[in-house]
Amino acid sequence: MPPSLPSQSHKPSVWAERAFTRLSQDGLDPLPDNFALFYAYYAGTRQDLNLALDTLTDGGRLLTQEQCTDLFQTYISLEAEERVLTATSSAAEIELQNVLRLLSHESQEAARYGETLTAFSTTISQPNPLDIMREAVAHALRATQTMAEQNEHLRTQLTSSTRQLAEVRTNLDKVRHDSLLDPLTTIGNRKFFDTELTRITREARKTGEPLSLLMADIDHFKRFNDTYGHLVGDQILRLVARTLIENLKGRDIIARYGGDEFVVLLPCTALKDAVTVANALRVSLEGKQIRRTQTNEILGVVTTSIGATVYLPDEHLDAFVERADSALYAAKQAGRCRVVAQDVASPPS
Ligand code: GH3
Ligand code: MG
Repeated sequence: MPPSLPSQSHKPSVWAERAFTRLSQDGLDPLPDNFALFYAYYAGTRQDLNLALDTLTDGGRLLTQEQCTDLFQTYISLEAEERVLTATSSAAEIELQNVLRLLSHESQEAARYGETLTAFSTTISQPNPLDIMREAVAHALRATQTMAEQNEHLRTQLTSSTRQLAEVRTNLDKVRHDSLLDPLTTIGNRKFFDTELTRITREARKTGEPLSLLMADIDHFKRFNDTYGHLVGDQILRLVARTLIENLKGRDIIARYGGDEFVVLLPCTALKDAVTVANALRVSLEGKQIRRTQTNEILGVVTTSIGATVYLPDEHLDAFVERADSALYAAKQAGRCRVVAQDVASPPS
């Protein structure tokens, strides 16, 4: 459908209403991220977002959930992160400028002090009457005192600047940490996975140890959402994340890849062992009953389909991930609730 011109209205209530209408027209769930995306679109705050969204929906095409998630990650969540980073780096810059100004002021003071002492030594080396000597000593004393006060001022300022810079660093560390976390499940997000994938494949190339990848997706998750509501859906996503954490070793990398998809990187693990791990995960999750928190009513069990594959040294990272994805697809096609492995050369089995 043709998008309404974003900047036609300047009222947040109009943007919000349009965002809701659009979500329901496109058959998208009213998730907070989806809403934020369309709100920004109708507010017209980001030209590049509007252009990307218009291109995807050109000719009346409807936006898919996956496209929504991608747009949100590219234009909305990064934008917030960028804002904090910009604010933080300008705070650091101001602090550094303060220190530099103080240091330059201080070196001028030191030069003046040096001139005073030189003048003093010239004065006392001449046969002057006593009161001239007294005046020279008093002058030198005043200069020494001023210098001492300046030093103390500089010390206080430097201490305060050091503290502020430490705060800036803590802030930056927190932003970096948060930007890699999925807020709902509190495990790593897609960005975390991408970073770890680069690191861990480099390590696998160096050590020659096998590296396996699992890609898991909840079966018929949409039904859970539609039947019991999104809060129950969210509870299931957290349960899956918890099950992964409980069943995997510390060196394994777990992340939410997006929506109801999770990924696990298993270093030093051959494909057949990765399949065993995947089946253990699947069975462990199936052993857990989903209950409604308030009423304790049993809502059923969750099953997952999992694709497994092993890394081929020097292959492109996308090819590695796509193979796991295609194994997952094969597991769905074969009837769900199962693990399918796909080795480099052979078709899914
Ligand atoms: P399949 O067995 O083929 O995987 O079916 P499915 O219903 O799980 O697949 P589909 O990809 O159609 O549905 C995934 C759903 O996940 C759609 C979307 O509403 C839901 N979803 C994505 N993110 C969230 C979230 O953060 N919370 C909740 N509750 N649901 C989410
Ligand atoms: Mg699913």
